[in-house]
Formats: sequence, C-alpha cells, structure tokens
Amino acid sequence: MILEYLRKRHTLSRTEIVYDLHISFPTVIQNLQYLTELGVVDDSKRISNTGGRNAVAYTFLQNAKLAIGVDVAEFRIKAVLVNLTGEVIDIIRRDKRFCMEEDYLREIGRVVDEMVTKHQILADNLLGVGIAVPGIVDEAGEYVVYGGTLNFTGATKEQFTKYIRYPSRLLHDVYAAGCAEAWGNPEDDNVFYIMLNNTIGGSFRTGDSLYVGDTGKSGEIGHTTVETHDGKVCYCGRRGCLEVYCNAVQLAKHTDGRLDVFFDEIRKGNPTMEKILDEYLRYLAVAVNNVRLLFNCKIVVGGYVGAYMDLYKEKLTGHVNELNPFGEDAAEYLLSCKYKVESTAAGAAIVFIDEYLYNI
Ligand SMILES: [Zn+2]
Repeated sequence: MILEYLRKRHTLSRTEIVYDLHISFPTVIQNLQYLTELGVVDDSKRISNTGGRNAVAYTFLQNAKLAIGVDVAEFRIKAVLVNLTGEVIDIIRRDKRFCMEEDYLREIGRVVDEMVTKHQILADNLLGVGIAVPGIVDEAGEYVVYGGTLNFTGATKEQFTKYIRYPSRLLHDVYAAGCAEAWGNPEDDNVFYIMLNNTIGGSFRTGDSLYVGDTGKSGEIGHTTVETHDGKVCYCGRRGCLEVYCNAVQLAKHTDGRLDVFFDEIRKGNPTMEKILDEYLRYLAVAVNNVRLLFNCKIVVGGYVGAYMDLYKEKLTGHVNELNPFGEDAAEYLLSCKYKVESTAAGAAIVFIDEYLYNI
C-alpha cells in the first residue's frame, strides 16, 4: 500500500503516509526502511517547512528498476525501455523482415544490447526482457503453439532469446498488449482487449489474471464470424472472419499502406475514406457488441487502429448501440487504449515490472 501510494504521489513525508493510509507509525517506518534498502525509495531529501524541523521526503525512484519489451512484428523489431511506473522511456525500431534465421535472431539480441548500452543499465537493475511474438504461445512460455500468419509454429523461446543474456520470456503479442492496457487501468476489473493491428487479436483479463481458456486460444476474436453472406476468405481458410474486415490493412491499403495518411484524410473529411471507415466500423461494432453481451465488461480498442479511436469513437459507439438489446451506452464501456504506441512491446516489459512490484 505504501509503495502504491508513493508511486502515485511521488514524494511524501512519513506523517502524510500515516494519516492518509491509516497505518501505524512504527509500521510505516519499518516499511519505508525496507523500501529504501531495496533502492526503490529515496530518503536523502527534506521537505522544507516553515517552522519546526524539516521532514524527510520519501521519494519513489521510478527508474530504480527497468525492463525491456521487444515486439517482433512482420516487418519490424521494436524494443522499448519501461520503468516502474509503466512509462515508456525509449523506443528503438529496426526495419527487418521476420524470419527464424540466425541473422534475424541475432538482431533481436543486438537491439536489446543497444538499449542497455544507450541507457547504461546495470544488469542488476534490468528485471528482464519480454519478447512478444505474433502467435499463440504455450502457457509455460516455452514455444509457439500457433504462428499462422508468419508461419513459425513450433519456434521456441530458446531460439528467440539465444542472443539475450538477461532473464527473458516469450509472450503472445496480444496478451502483452492487453496486459499493458489492464495495468494502465487497474480500476477496471474485467477488461476485454481488442488489438487492431495488421492482424487482429483479443484477450480477456479478469481481476489480476488473464483468462486463457482450456486450450490457450481464448480471445481469438479475429476469427469470429461477422459476415455470413458470401464473406471474404480469411488466412485461416474460413470466410467472413472479423480479421478480413477489420485488420489495419483494410484501412491503410487505401492510402498506400499508410494508416496515418488514412486518418489524416478522415480529419480532412474526405468522403470516400469516411465511407470506407464507416463500413469498417459496422463490422467492428458487431464484434464489440458480441464481447459486451458475452462478458459484460469494459472493452479496450487498441493496436494501430485503436490509437486513432478519438477520431471515430462516436461513430463506433453509435453502431454498437444500435445492436445492443439492453439500451446500454457503449460510450461508457468502450475505452481507447492508454498506450497509443508500442502497447505490445510495453506489455512485454510490464510483465516483469508487475511481477517485481507484486513480490516486493
Ligand atoms: Zn479467420
């Protein structure tokens, strides 16, 4: 409790902690000493008072421990450095086409090393490196159960982390991104996260835990059917999946693959693009409504397209409300993502931060 409070308020005196949290003085002293010894709280400064002695200022050291998250995507490797507040301190991007060859795996290690060197991170202060991949990972985090889109089913953690000399983990990208979002909104107990990247993923968190399902494939919203009449063919081999109507490419392909340009046109009021977006949102609304009806929870729309939700939230809300039989207003349960960029990489790092703070 004390650490959580310090993380929020940054600097506090002992008395403030005692009064605000209703914890006894000896307990506060004992805990602050422990946190100071751990190196996550600093007690070297004073709060200046008029009259009387200056109280010790206990300050949360947000950069005392760090974690690195790596997002391994089809055309790019992205690494982020995250501190104890979940803030992304730095991003390194490397254009490189995904493959499981040695040269590529070595590049993952190089990106991590570059981040470590650039910020002069001591090994003791680096909690770990999370590797998020666009595929379903087994529960133990050892291998890829399904790597359909990039054809890397069966790839192992050992392969991905061969050139990384820090504690590391392999994660499903959408779980990582969902974790980042849930961490950013701790007051929302039940959250379904929809990731609208070049492929679509989903994850459901309830309380502190991720619901993975009986075979680890829960949340695969991309392959729910949204068009039953002559639907377009999906990479999974079926027709009419949300995936083929709402992945980011369905918008970006109209502006030479540039999603930012697509949304620039929306800002300008381009009627052709608005029509395309409207059709897109009607399909997305079906998925959102289904999730709401099944889980009755908050829904975060994230990923590349989710980052622009401010530009279309009203429209999406309207379409969802038309479908909802209970008269619920989607504006109240539909949330835009907290991490506008790099939620996947941030989430891969946050699993280490979360674990560290939990075990303190
Ligand atoms: Zn499909």
